[in-house]
Amino acid sequence: MNIHEYQAKALLRSYGAPVSDGRVVLRAEEAKTAAGEMDGPLWVVKAQIHAGGRGKGKFKEPGAGDAGGVRLAKSVSQAADEARRMLGRTLVTKQTGPAGKQVNRIYIEDGSGIETEMYLALLVDRQTSRVSFVCSTEGGMDIEEVAHSTPEKILSFSVDPATGYQPFHGRRIAFNLGLTGGQVKQCVRLMGILYKLFLDKDMEMLEINPLIVTDKGDLKCLDAKMGFDSNALYRHADIAELRDVTEEDPKELEASKYDLNYIALDGEIGCMVNGAGLAMATMDIIKLYGAEPANFLDVGGGATKEKVTEAFKIITSDPQVKGILVNIFGGIMRCDVIAEGVVAAVKEVGLQVPLVVRLEGTNVEEGKAIINNSDVDVIAADDLKDGAEKIVKAVRG
Ligand code: GDP
Ligand code: MN
Repeated sequence: MNIHEYQAKALLRSYGAPVSDGRVVLRAEEAKTAAGEMDGPLWVVKAQIHAGGRGKGKFKEPGAGDAGGVRLAKSVSQAADEARRMLGRTLVTKQTGPAGKQVNRIYIEDGSGIETEMYLALLVDRQTSRVSFVCSTEGGMDIEEVAHSTPEKILSFSVDPATGYQPFHGRRIAFNLGLTGGQVKQCVRLMGILYKLFLDKDMEMLEINPLIVTDKGDLKCLDAKMGFDSNALYRHADIAELRDVTEEDPKELEASKYDLNYIALDGEIGCMVNGAGLAMATMDIIKLYGAEPANFLDVGGGATKEKVTEAFKIITSDPQVKGILVNIFGGIMRCDVIAEGVVAAVKEVGLQVPLVVRLEGTNVEEGKAIINNSDVDVIAADDLKDGAEKIVKAVRG
């Protein structure tokens, strides 16, 4: 689960990390008062969406002006104007995709004078099963581009959980970032705070880009992005409360209500599969035959008829879906339950696109009989290869 920058900064502040003073506003009328609570002479007005690259982003509507989603203002009224221009409008960045995201919240911040911009992140390194620090002098910009063209400018190392964070970790980062004097001490302290916060809240990712040296020579977190392990949210009610469902894919949101493992993708073939491994294999083979999956969906081992019906409804609600492949290998999951779910769902929502069903395993004959005896228009498939070939043919001709 991801949260907004202003929420991440509130967490950082509560742990004693250096961040600017700021106010979040949801309505344009609140902007002037919010900006007036800070002294200036510089205000930063920032669109709050769950995507990075806002600074270099572009608004779809002309009324928002030509600037991106991060704007500098020199007066309270100018800050309020910028907030009003952005609120309710659609920001497109490298990370939002072409559809962009509607801006429903604005963060107005006390502006900082910047000496240097650096990059810092903490993440879970799956190779070492440890928390890793990543830092670079090349901050403020696209870190993927830095990693691609000048990988030597990125330092990354993991922390041994037996010792936890130690001051030498912080000094290593400070040295790498070229910090001097009192900044080294600030860096050692800040990295300790970030490491503690990361562990305390079961984060998956914490990115400060840019971490800056201000014109006064102090370290400050100018941007903050946090991702949390959804499986650990049950023990962090304070974090779960920060969830903004308007930032999530409505189909994924609906799927999470029914405990379905669903991820929306860009392709045209909807998939309903049981087991994550089979789901991955199904997506691979769809690509092999020249099409693209519209989603990843694992209905799980013990899915009920209702769950299968919901899954089917979610797949068909996606206008991009031009065909559906149901691929079930019944082990714990029974083929007749899947068949009943598919038939019930088709009765409820109708079927506008070709449907290929491949059933194998427990109660496969009963399953096939249910589908054959219904008036659902199904293309039957014998195995995974056959199923993929048939659905791709049905969709792409
Ligand atoms: P992002 O584009 O979504 O990553 O948003 P950021 O919060 O990182 O802001 C983008 C850029 O705006 C930063 O890299 C800075 O160059 C600039 N910026 C953000 N806050 C301030 C500020 O307080 N003062 C100044 N001078 N520039 C800022
Ligand atoms: Mn940033």
